[in-house]
Formats: sequence, structure tokens, C-alpha cells
Amino acid sequence: MPRRYVIVGNGPAGAAAAQAIRARDAGSEITIVGDEKASFYSRPGLAYLLAGSIPEGQLFSRPDEGNRRLGIRRVVARMERLEATEHRARLGDGRSLAYDRLLLAVGARALRPDVPGMDLEGVVTLDNLEDARRILRLARRARRAAVVGGGITALELAEGLAAQGVETHYLMRKDRYWGNVLEPEESSVVEARLEDEGVRLHHEVELKRVLNGRGRVSAVELSGGRRLTCDLLGVAIGIQPRLELAERSGLATKRGILTDEFFRTSHPDIYAAGDVAEVLDPASGQRVLDSLWSVAIEQGRAAGANMAGAGEPYRRPVSFNVTRIGGVTTTLIGAVGSGRADEDLVSLSRGDSQSWRDRAEAFALVSEAGLSRVRVLVGKERIVGAVVMGDQSLSRPLQDLIRGRVDIRAARERLLGAADDLPVTLTAIWKEAVGVAAG
Ligand SMILES: Cc1cc2nc3c(=O)[nH]c(=O)nc-3n(C[C@H](O)[C@H](O)[C@H](O)COP(=O)(O)OP(=O)(O)OC[C@H]3O[C@@H](n4cnc5c(N)ncnc54)[C@H](O)[C@@H]3O)c2cc1C
Repeated sequence: MPRRYVIVGNGPAGAAAAQAIRARDAGSEITIVGDEKASFYSRPGLAYLLAGSIPEGQLFSRPDEGNRRLGIRRVVARMERLEATEHRARLGDGRSLAYDRLLLAVGARALRPDVPGMDLEGVVTLDNLEDARRILRLARRARRAAVVGGGITALELAEGLAAQGVETHYLMRKDRYWGNVLEPEESSVVEARLEDEGVRLHHEVELKRVLNGRGRVSAVELSGGRRLTCDLLGVAIGIQPRLELAERSGLATKRGILTDEFFRTSHPDIYAAGDVAEVLDPASGQRVLDSLWSVAIEQGRAAGANMAGAGEPYRRPVSFNVTRIGGVTTTLIGAVGSGRADEDLVSLSRGDSQSWRDRAEAFALVSEAGLSRVRVLVGKERIVGAVVMGDQSLSRPLQDLIRGRVDIRAARERLLGAADDLPVTLTAIWKEAVGVAAG
């Protein structure tokens, strides 16, 4: 009898897992159960939709057609309950599915601050396409918006609302943006660009409550009793892996669903991957949370292969993201953090990695040219992290050197002495390492 696989979640982890299973097990039955009506789309692309720089259609890169060709069935429904011992999954619409192996790839949801007024119409978060559509609808009649939170999503909300013609105020609890990952100079670059885009910045203010004007947001009250009249409040204080299904099914969880290095949860036929999973990395012995598109794909692919019998332990890659923050194209790789807390975030945010917070035992080299800036963290044997803002010429070399864990001991002195020549020296070291002909 063909094996029956059920995948819960139609995001990148679920989609990659389905393909990996199909590649190893041609005759199996594969069903993806997802509660969003829309077919597979780019979640990072939602920021561009809000900013008005792409039409909605451009979010959809892989329509259902592809799945049909691979014989992957998609069911639009909410998964309510797993009966692990019976290998049966219960859907919200009353149907049930029998499975041999099941993957939980249900992602994470935005958290809301614990202050009065969070349930009012006009308080928005950005998790999915429906949220983006709602924000665009509300922005059409809004005059003024406030945004609280940190990381990439807070900026995407602020920039998106400003681009929709709404007067937008970004409220930060501390003195600067994303202080646990970026250096003060990097925060300044982002903040200057936000101001150029018309976003008004407020530092060292805290949201105390949201005021109700006939069931809708009418203002926010801030620390010190100050009020800011507004019709919209964007919230991006962090995310929480969706644990309900796992908890209801008796699976072991902590911050996420706990898995071993083969993505198996505490039940051997149930796997987990992507934003919802805390996967063991045997190399470090640690479980690190990420909310990264590329990590979700890598984990989904590896989980799917293991579900179909590959038996390959996961090796956690160095986390990286190439994204736009405050309109500045930025690459973040590896350990770049300050080790301090960011009070605008209560947990991980979207497009973020827990590993970026680490303060590395490393020497920081900085190169600046105009509005571009590169920060490289040089450890004893390897480059352990980097932030590339603006000009992206060094993004690829640094990704290769850091993610490839290239031994730079022979070139370390040259690198540390590079001073103004840092980009040239780094490029030369990269070419030597990857065997690219110089010149
Ligand atoms: C606005 C935004 C910006 C982002 N920017 C970046 C970025 O710049 N760079 C980057 O690397 N990453 C970014 N991310 C993060 C990235 O999109 C996620 O890391 C990735 O989507 C996680 O994939 P996943 O498959 O684990 O979960 P998801 O993509 O969240 O998919 C999970 C799916 O499961 C569904 N689901 C949940 N519960 C159930 C249930 N009970 N039954 C059925 N279906 C269910 C959900 O509705 C969802 O469709 C961003 C995300 C957002 C929202």
C-alpha cells in the first residue's frame, strides 16, 4: 500500500517537504492541508505589496498547477486535532485524514502587547495575505497611523502605511532601532531613510493603551500620559510559534515544537519544521529559533526527505537574510548582535534569527562609503558574522565565507590590517577560498 503523508501548513516548509517526499517516494499519497484560501505565495513579498511596489499577483510564484502535476493534493481547511496513536488527523470541517507520517509546518503568529484596546478595529498585525489586504483597505480611509514594535516587520508596516499616504508615527521604546542586532551607526542609517520616506520617529516612548472611538482605534496613550490621535495601530512586537495543535496532541514543546535532528517530534511519526519547530542541531547541541524563508525551505526539504526514509541528520546552516530595512538593502549573516536586549521586541520577529543576537568573540572591521556600510566580525579561525548595508558587492563573498565556514587563519593578519582596503582584501580572500580567478 502506498504511504500516506499529510503536511499541515502550505508555507515554504510544507511546500518544500511535499516536493522532497515526492522526489524520494513516487507512489505515495501526499496531502497538504492549509487554512489559507490563497495558493502558495511569498510572505516576505507582503511588504512590497503594502508599499505599493508590486501588484498582488506577483506574490504567487508557484500556482497549484505545479502541485497537481506532482500529484500533491491540497485541501483548504483548518487542522483541528491529531489522534497520534490512531494516525488520524481531524479537520475543522468534520473530515478526517488517515496518515502514516505527518508534518507540522504551521508557522508562527504575531504577538500583541498586553495593553487595553488591542481588540479594537484598526489594530493590525502582518502575518499573511489577508492581513495585508485588510491593512490596505483600512489605510484607504485612515489619516494617521502609529506603529509599535521592532525588527523588520515594524518597519515594513511603517513604510507601507507611509507609502499608502497615511501620516505614520513609529514609536520606539529605546533610543534607537533594532539595538540588539544593529550598531548605532547602522540604526542611524535606517532611521534617516525612514524619515526621508516621511515616517515620524519617536524614541523612548511606550504604548500604554489604545483608545476606543465607537469600537475603533481613535488614539494611543503613551508613557507620560501623552496622546497621539490615530485611526490605525500597527503592531510588530514579535512572533509566537503556533503550538496549539502540538500541545493538544501531547507533543513535547518549549518555545517551539521540539524535534530531534531528523525533525521527529516526541511522536515518531509526527515531524515538525519551519517557524514552528525547535530543531536540534547536533553540531552545537542547541535548538535555535529562526523566522527565515530560506531556513523554512531548507528544514522543510530535509524533514520531507527524512519522512520518506533518508535518515540524514540536519546540519544547521548559518542564518542569513537579504532584505530591505528602511529602504536600504541589507544582508545579515551569522553572529552580528550586541548581546543586549531590544525592548521593542518580546520575542523573535519575522525575517529574524535568534543567532543574530549573539555577541561574538570577534574583531569588528567596518568599511563605509557614502550611504553604504559593511561590518565584518572576524573570529580566530573564521569570519563569524557580517552586516552589509547599501552596496551589496560584498554580500555574496561574505555569504560564501561565513556560511561555508571557510578557515581564514592564513589570511587573518592581512584582513585585520586591511583598513580602507577592506572590500578589496575581502574580495581577494573570497576568490582564493572559492577558487575564482582573480581580476
Ligand atoms: C510580513 C513578513 C515579512 C517577512 N520577511 C522576511 C524576510 O525578509 N526574510 C526572511 O527570510 N523571512 C521573512 N519572513 C518570514 C518567513 O516568511 C517565514 O520564516 C516563513 O514563511 C516560515 O515558513 P513556514 O512554512 O514555517 O510557515 P508559514 O509560512 O507561516 O506557513 C504556515 C502555514 O500554515 C497555516 N496553518 C497554521 N495553522 C494551521 C492549521 N491548524 N491548519 C491548517 N493550516 C494551518 C498558516 O495559515 C500558514 O499558511 C517574513 C514573514 C512575514 C509575514
